[in-house]
Amino acid sequence: MHEVSSGEILKILRELGAERVLIQTPEGLKGEAQALADFLEENGVEAIISGDINYGACDPADREAKLLGCDALIHLGHSYMRLHLEVPTIFVPAFAAVDVVPSLERNLGEIRRLGRRIALVTTAQHIHQLDRARKFLEKNGFDVLVGHGDSRVSWPGQVLGCNFAAAKVDAEGVLFIGAGYFHPIGVALATRKPTLAVNPYSGDAIWMDNEAERLIRRRWAQIAKAMDAERFGVITSTKKGQLRLAEAKRVVRLLREHGKYARLIAMNHISYPALEGFDFDAYVIVACPRVPIDDYENWRRPVLTPPEVEILLGLREDYEFDEILG
Ligand code: SF4
Repeated sequence: MHEVSSGEILKILRELGAERVLIQTPEGLKGEAQALADFLEENGVEAIISGDINYGACDPADREAKLLGCDALIHLGHSYMRLHLEVPTIFVPAFAAVDVVPSLERNLGEIRRLGRRIALVTTAQHIHQLDRARKFLEKNGFDVLVGHGDSRVSWPGQVLGCNFAAAKVDAEGVLFIGAGYFHPIGVALATRKPTLAVNPYSGDAIWMDNEAERLIRRRWAQIAKAMDAERFGVITSTKKGQLRLAEAKRVVRLLREHGKYARLIAMNHISYPALEGFDFDAYVIVACPRVPIDDYENWRRPVLTPPEVEILLGLREDYEFDEILG
C-alpha cells in the first residue's frame, strides 16, 4: 500500500488510452488536483477539474465525466468503493504522514483498560500503518483482531462514517486510531463495546462512552420533536454510493402504514435550504448517515435516520446507528 504518484496515474491513463480526464477532489486536496491537472496536460492528457465538493468514494463523478466526454475519472482522497461506474476510475487515497505508534505508546495504560483481546480499526488515512500498530500492540501483550469489514471498504480494519463492519469482531473492546469523533462514536454505537479513540496528531486518547451517550441524547431529542409530525419527506440520494432506494421506499411504506403522509424525494446534495417551500413536518434521510447527525442544527424541521423512524413508530426500543452495509 503506497501513495499513487502522478507518474503512476499517467501510466494507467496511457494504458487506458485516455485522452481527456475529469479530476474529482475533496476540499483539502484542491491544490494537489490542480497540480495533477497541470502535470497531465504537460504530458498530453487534457484534464478538467470538478469544482463540486466531494465527501467520499460514495460520490464518484463518473456520470459527469461521461457527460464531459472524458475517458476516465481520477477520484482523489478516498479509497476504492465497489460501485458500477460509467467510466474507468482511478481512486487515489490520501495517506497521512503522521506516525501512529508514538500515540499508542503514550496511551498504553488506557489501551490496557480495553482488555487483552482488542479490535483495531482506523480510517483510510492511517490504514497503511495498521499493520505496524498491530505489531506494536502484540509486542505489548495484546491479542489484536483486525476485522475484514464488508465489500464497502477497501482494506481489513477500515471503517467509514457509514460502515463499522470491520469493528464487529469477538473482542473485549475496540481501539480506533484517527482524528475526529464521528467515526469512533459510530464504532461505539455499532459494537456496543468500550471504545477508545487514539488521535495520532494530538497524542490524546478519548473514551467514547460519554460521547456516544451525548449523541444518543441529542438523537432522542430529534425523535421527540418529530412525535407530532404528520407529514414526512423521505429523502433518498442520487449519489451512487448513497443511493438506498429500497430502504427509502420501506421507510415510506412504514410511515404510511402508521397513518402518516410520506413522500419520497430524491436529491443529490442534501441540504435544508433546498427543501424550503415543501410542506413537511419532518424529514428522514436515507442517504449518508452523517447528514442528519452532523447537520441537524441547520434544519428547521426534525430530521431522522431510518432506525430513528422505527423508534418513533414504536417498532424498535434500542437506539441503533444508521449504517450502509456492503
Ligand atoms: Fe462517507 Fe457518508 Fe459516503 Fe459513507 S455515505 S463514505 S460516511 S460520505
